[in-house]
Amino acid sequence: MRFRYLAIPIIAIALASCNQPAQENTPDTFNKDSLMKHIQILASDSFMGRRPFTVGEERATAYMQSQFQQMGLEPSNASSYIQEVPLVDITVNAAPTMQVQGAKEKFELKNIDDYVLATERTDSVLSLDNDEVVFAGYGVVAPEYNWNDYAGIDVKGKIVLVLVNDPGFNAGDTTIFKGRTMTYYGRWTYKYEEAARQGAKACLIVHNTKAASYGFSVVQNSWGKSNLYLDTRGSSEYHCALNGWLTGDATKRLLAAAGKDTTLLATADKQGFKAVPLGVKLSTKVNISTVYNKSKNVIAKITGSKNPDEYVVYTAHWDHLGVGKPDAKGDTIYNGAIDNASGSAALLEMARAFKNTKPDRTVIFLSVTAEEQGLLGSKYYAEHPIYPMEKTVAEINMDGVNAFGKRKDVSISGQGQSDLEDYFTEEAKKQGRYLAPESRPEAGGYFRSDHFNFAKHGVPALNAGGGTDDVKGGKAEGERQRDDYTDHRYHQPADEYDSSWTFEGGLDDLRLLFNVGKRAATIGNNPQWKEGSEFKALRKTVR
Ligand SMILES: [Zn+2]
Repeated sequence: MRFRYLAIPIIAIALASCNQPAQENTPDTFNKDSLMKHIQILASDSFMGRRPFTVGEERATAYMQSQFQQMGLEPSNASSYIQEVPLVDITVNAAPTMQVQGAKEKFELKNIDDYVLATERTDSVLSLDNDEVVFAGYGVVAPEYNWNDYAGIDVKGKIVLVLVNDPGFNAGDTTIFKGRTMTYYGRWTYKYEEAARQGAKACLIVHNTKAASYGFSVVQNSWGKSNLYLDTRGSSEYHCALNGWLTGDATKRLLAAAGKDTTLLATADKQGFKAVPLGVKLSTKVNISTVYNKSKNVIAKITGSKNPDEYVVYTAHWDHLGVGKPDAKGDTIYNGAIDNASGSAALLEMARAFKNTKPDRTVIFLSVTAEEQGLLGSKYYAEHPIYPMEKTVAEINMDGVNAFGKRKDVSISGQGQSDLEDYFTEEAKKQGRYLAPESRPEAGGYFRSDHFNFAKHGVPALNAGGGTDDVKGGKAEGERQRDDYTDHRYHQPADEYDSSWTFEGGLDDLRLLFNVGKRAATIGNNPQWKEGSEFKALRKTVR
């Protein structure tokens, strides 16, 4: 079981969808039976939870490919529907302790209890050897917010200690970053990326349940053992030797060894913060073992009738968690019916709907692998795009479709990023629906599914669906359904196919996302990042 990335399907944020009949311009190809059939197959026990490198991968990718073929979609990687994704499984065997050397005292921290370590490097042994620790605030370099936690300090070869989330989180003030709405600077993945850009030897994040939005047990469950990464052999990209998390308590002890206390951490909330060398040194060692293998993205397209060399991409991950720890009923297969057999089924249905139209631009249907392992299939595609990112007009992600009733509202994850949200809100209005505010903006949902890898490469990307305002039962019912899913099925063996699903809400959402993509695929429409988006500067111009 990997909770590591805690990717949030849109259903867990809101549970998708609406309340009006299909729009005139929407082909009514979206129907429950067809959607349910795909889900029933993809989420069946014979697919074994669709974990990469298992028989489940073979079955799921073969199914997606054969469905695209039957619909008459074109292959997208030359004559193939497959993009191979080279991955490496890195297992970390950490020493049981880490030595902390302060000015006056020396003590040990315990692996897993006090900290966890991981690495993206494939060296057989990695170590910290009495390396210096620098407290680098939130570890953020954000020119658009005039913020640089690494200003005036060289951390090359050192260990940086950083806080999770961003400076807006504690500020209670929307003028600092986006207030409580997490920016990408708040995600742990960003912290490690920036520490590597700074040439740090290691990066340790101070855990805090509120700021991270999950407890340390989640971190313990998913780190300090084997994890999949892209196989980057041959690339010169620098990664820190070790990345990890430190508990709040262990941080206190470390600060005490430096003659400081936790008031130091709060200084990072203020503009003009300067990184502080702690005069504390750390030592530990990890042994690394690696296994290389190739997984698969499945990709199909409908060539545009007017501008075939411009693209709109729909994504949905086919993978899930595989077979793991039994639940109370003894079930060990993590079927992932909602997460994300439903999105995969939606991708197939979306392709079928577009097949009946003649989009101006080429529309790509990308079924990605290893989302649950860190958004790896989409990361690989974004780093090795088959169609150029600067010619990719828009990306729309589907991760979890509302299997229940119609919704009066819609919800956008990471609201405020791109013009695609305006398309979405306008099309929702035509369905008689309103835009509800995001329910937990501090959780950083926008950075937790596959659209994010397109955003990181500058492509305006949307992750949106229905809200919780149920047409029949109101918010109480919608929220009950969302919480029931989050508490009892999300990333558990009980995320299984259910013949009682109506998908009334989800079908509305698919019609809506079809209309958004259709608009983006129409010449004259060129969605952009909004002012203030951290992705705006990354856009390579389309036109
Ligand atoms: Zn998912």
